[in-house]
Amino acid sequence: MKKKQILITGAASGIGQGIANYLATKGHHIIVSDLDKVSAEQTAAQIRQLGGSAEAVELNVTSQQNIDDVIANLKAPIDVLINNAGIQHVEPLDTFPMDKWNLLIQVMLVGVARLTQAVLADMKTNNFGRVINIGSLHSLVASPYKSAYISAKHGLIGFSKTLALEVAEKDITINTLCPAYVKTPLVEKQIASQAKEHGITEDEVVNNIMLKPMPKKSFIEIEELAGCCEFLISHFAKNITAQAIALDGGWTAQ
Ligand code: NAD
Repeated sequence: MKKKQILITGAASGIGQGIANYLATKGHHIIVSDLDKVSAEQTAAQIRQLGGSAEAVELNVTSQQNIDDVIANLKAPIDVLINNAGIQHVEPLDTFPMDKWNLLIQVMLVGVARLTQAVLADMKTNNFGRVINIGSLHSLVASPYKSAYISAKHGLIGFSKTLALEVAEKDITINTLCPAYVKTPLVEKQIASQAKEHGITEDEVVNNIMLKPMPKKSFIEIEELAGCCEFLISHFAKNITAQAIALDGGWTAQ
């Protein structure tokens, strides 16, 4: 496979970092982008130390100016965009701060549209592009107290279906991976705060709350997501577009 130029947002931690590390081992050049510049640089440096090809950029997906600057300074056009940056806030709608609600939508839905728009012209010119959104099980089902997150993640499905139709004449696809829980800093924070809130142990949060509705009762490994990305960017997946691909241990089968 021709080596790709891959931009990953929120790639300095968790899922984005894991996907960056894995795709670098396949010889692709990774642009490790994140709000957190220091961690992005550490991630890229680690990839290079292991013999891979990577560079780091500071990129806040809510800033159009920042996006325009990053794209204008690229050494080569982007073949693959992985929209991964994400944040969470858990609170009933009654008291959910609206500025927080707006921020979640800006990061996980508007930011995705901004980044995708920014790389689309080159993808069309080159007649090749793969856009992979890191959605969530919560792109498909709801849980209480996560109204902003779930609205953003559901929105990705509509966005992807629409864009897939707009670019169907070219070898460009857009898909959304929908994992159940993955053990990353984002989820570790939720485990700790739910244990405190309910007065139970972290193990009880994991077993009695998080994994309870999941038939396979396990966290999704980052390598499962990385493997899906590897497949989706290959020519074998050229007709897979507008899909929500669930990695959910049977959660949505019920
Ligand atoms: P994480 O907190 O480990 O990493 C998220 C990264 O996004 C961080 O490096 C953070 O700096 C970055 N980020 C936050 N706001 C940003 C912004 N405005 N611009 C650029 N970068 C920004 O979280 P994670 O668990 O690896 O989550 C990655 C993605 O996977 C998110 O979209 C999340 O919703 C999704 N997801 C996670 C899980 C899970 O269980 N961890 C499950 C389903 C989906």
